Amino acid sequence: MPIDATLPYDPNNVFARILRGELPAKRVWEDEHALAFHDIAPQSAVHVLVIPKGPYVSWDDLSARASDAEIAGFVRAVGTVARELGLVAPGYRLLANTGAHGGQEVPHLHVHLFGGGPLGPMLVR
Ligand code: 5GP
Repeated sequence: MPIDATLPYDPNNVFARILRGELPAKRVWEDEHALAFHDIAPQSAVHVLVIPKGPYVSWDDLSARASDAEIAGFVRAVGTVARELGLVAPGYRLLANTGAHGGQEVPHLHVHLFGGGPLGPMLVR
């Protein structure tokens, strides 16, 4: 069920619980600003989620409220994970679903990182 991305951050969302270690995840990379882990229901050969550690619902929420250090840390993390997974040369795709029209289901900002093979058209409508 898509979320309303204008609602305040819910600290009990599933990714907040993964960050606190209350739920398991197959972690692939972590630093002070971001965590990357495998999607529980992968939609490509490589499907990793990269999330900021701060309480942000969406990309626009991050851009409005996060510090420059948090924003830089998160953006760098996405690139670092792509490089460390060996995705730069073959190519990959980033996706950040937002709100109802975007189909966002988890109300903690996450960037999907897809790769591991050709990904097809950008949108299937
Ligand atoms: P959204 O539609 O919000 O952009 O995508 C949420 C993603 O989170 C989905 O791809 C879904 O499979 C993934 N997901 C939901 N719950 C969990 C979980 O508990 N663990 C992990 N690793 N991924 C999850």
